[in-house]
Amino acid sequence: MRWSRTGRESDLEDRRGASGGRGGGLGRLPAAGGGLGIVGVLIVLAIQLLGGGSGFSVPSGFDGSTQAPASDPIPASQDPDKDLRDFSLYVFSDVQDTWTRTFQDAGRSYDRAKLVLYRGGTDTGCGFGQAATGPFYCPADQRVYLDLSFWNEMERTLQAPGDFAWAYVVAHEVGHHVQNLLGTSDEVDQLRRKNPGDGNTLSVRLELQADCYAGVWARSVFDQLQDGDIEEAMRASQSVGDDRLQRSAGQRVNPDTFTHGSSAQRLKWFKRGSSRGEPADCDTFSGDV
Ligand SMILES: [Zn+2]
Repeated sequence: MRWSRTGRESDLEDRRGASGGRGGGLGRLPAAGGGLGIVGVLIVLAIQLLGGGSGFSVPSGFDGSTQAPASDPIPASQDPDKDLRDFSLYVFSDVQDTWTRTFQDAGRSYDRAKLVLYRGGTDTGCGFGQAATGPFYCPADQRVYLDLSFWNEMERTLQAPGDFAWAYVVAHEVGHHVQNLLGTSDEVDQLRRKNPGDGNTLSVRLELQADCYAGVWARSVFDQLQDGDIEEAMRASQSVGDDRLQRSAGQRVNPDTFTHGSSAQRLKWFKRGSSRGEPADCDTFSGDV
């Protein structure tokens, strides 16, 4: 895929140069088991879908180093992660542009979320966010929180350049923003309070819908997904099991520590979203998933 790196700077809040709030030293984080929760399955899936190498070109220059936080914003010329920053912002903006059009078609307006880049940890409207939990969306402040060091974790764990996987992660998180705007998240919260026993099931449905929404965006970017790729992805996805997903449990902030559903379910809903690119196909709340 040919991608430009022109995102909307107004979509971005770059806190990487800030002092980072609590937590003291924000150098290299322990490679906690968490963080793969939202993407464990999808990374592999995404890579397989692209058949490797045919997709985004790999942002170069990301050396994964985590520097001591500075007190000033990082000048572009001194940003070791500039390409990944620009790529992330491009995807984030593109996903939001897609949703803006979709909302407009439905006679609604789309309120843009913001992408917060941070390093190590940062305050969020949902509590203190930590990189170890992986990327997450906070509905209270309508922001997606992303620590670019997660790129390394993905690459190290899966030993594959994850350009599209990375894009997929971003799209999935924006999917949660869409759910917030549409009131789906609130409805689920109410149902969860009413029927605590259904909490897990509801979370799965919410996550699968975000997968489907990510697929909707993927459709707009890759309009030629092949069945063979899908089947490969399904097999590959089995290699990232529930143990990895569960290791991210117990974190306070990250909504993505909820159960996500099986690999097969996630693949099914990704396929559904990407098959026509129609959000209406993403009703994960009716019937079986
Ligand atoms: Zn999620």
